[in-house]
Parts: sequence; C-alpha cells; structure tokens
Amino acid sequence: MIAENLQIVNAKIAEAARKSGRDPGRIGLIAVTKTVPVDRIREAMQAGLACFGENKIQEAKAKIEILGRTACRWHFIGHLQKNKVKFLFDRFDLVHSVDGFELAEAIHAQSLERRWVMPILIQVNISGERSKSGVDPAQLQELLVRVAPLPGIQVRGLMALPPMDPDPERSRPYFSRLRELRDGCAKMGIDNIRLDDLSMGMSNDYPVAIEEGATLVRVGSALFGPRPRP
Ligand SMILES: *Cc1c(COP(=O)(O)O)cnc(C)c1O
Repeated sequence: MIAENLQIVNAKIAEAARKSGRDPGRIGLIAVTKTVPVDRIREAMQAGLACFGENKIQEAKAKIEILGRTACRWHFIGHLQKNKVKFLFDRFDLVHSVDGFELAEAIHAQSLERRWVMPILIQVNISGERSKSGVDPAQLQELLVRVAPLPGIQVRGLMALPPMDPDPERSRPYFSRLRELRDGCAKMGIDNIRLDDLSMGMSNDYPVAIEEGATLVRVGSALFGPRPRP
C-alpha cells in the first residue's frame, strides 16, 4: 500500500515539476512518520523512501533507536523546546523548525561542544496566525543577520506551514510569499547563510508548493493513510 501511494506521490511531484520547468530530481520528499509505527516505516524504506520527518523528540528518539541512524535520513519538523536540543545530535540531518534566535543559539552552543555543524531551516510564520510558531516575516532579515556568525549552525533555507485549507489553491499565495521572502533575503548575500531550500507543502497541497518553488515537501497521510486523531 505504501509502495502504491509512493508511486502516486512521485508521479504528482514529477508532474508539478514539469509544469513549472523544474527538475523533479531536485525535489526532496520527506515522509512524515509521526504516529506511524516502525514496521510501517520499514515498509516505507523497502518501497524506496529514504528521508523521514518526525515532529516529537521522544517519539523520534525511540524510533531512531530501533531503525538505526544510517539506514535513512531523519528530519526534525516539529516545535522544539530548548531543553530538548541535545536530542537532535546523532539523530537528525536537518532541523526545519528553528523559529527564533534563542533556539538557533542553543543549537549552535551544543554543536560547538560536539564539534558539529547542524543544518537548519528558519520557520517563518507566513500567515501571521497567532497559533503558529515561526519568525515574523518582517523580522526574518534581522534574524538571519544575527545567526549568520554562529559556526555551530548552517542555515540552508526557510520553512512554512500555511493555514489548513482543503483547497490547495488557497495555500498558493502563502507559498509564493515564502519564495519571494527568500529571494529578497538571498539578495542580501549574508555570509554563511544559504537559502537554497524551501520546505513547504504537505499531503493536501505539495503539488502547488512545488509549482511555487518548494525543494522539500513534507508528506504524511498521502503516503501512510490518515492518522489517528490526537
Ligand atoms: C504532520 C506534518 C506534516 C504532514 O502532514 P500530512 O498532511 O499528513 O501530509 C508536514 N509538516 C509538519 C510540520 C507536520 O507536523
């Protein structure tokens, strides 16, 4: 079942890439495995998925212990508390959800101790919803300038979660806004800041996100089926 779903998702990624004149090989599919048990993650690996996204440290820690660190890549995509930062190391290849200077600095400090450089994305609150985490778009440039000198982190791009909407076209303006914001910041040419990656698009709207420039899409239920309600 996962293999069939993956075929469909890959076909839609290829189609969206073609539509927008992009190389489908440059679009990373992150299989979001929150609430998905390890036997189904194994099935997903066998189907060819190689990068998994988790949003809770405790859950991810348990799964990575069982599945191993090297069989695939792991991305952290959830809200992160500073006291959990230490659990990122030796587990995650990319943190999508850095939403402010203090968190960035905490990751940097732990990285230094471990002689590591942690790749991160800055999460932007693109819709301005109060319930959402992420840096205010108006404060993004200032944040990038502040985190740029921290050698323990490497900014690779931006991430956003637009408001839930059953109609994917309603997400499009948020995706294009994130891309424009990225383009504006990239023009500043800040040292040690790379803004190549745009992590945007979920099961409901990843084709639209790709049309608007996503390089990483975070897809859960379209691969694994609906999640149990929390
Ligand atoms: C759960 C989750 C996803 C995937 O959601 P689906 O709608 O199941 O694809 C993507 N990004 C984040 C941050 C999530 O928490």
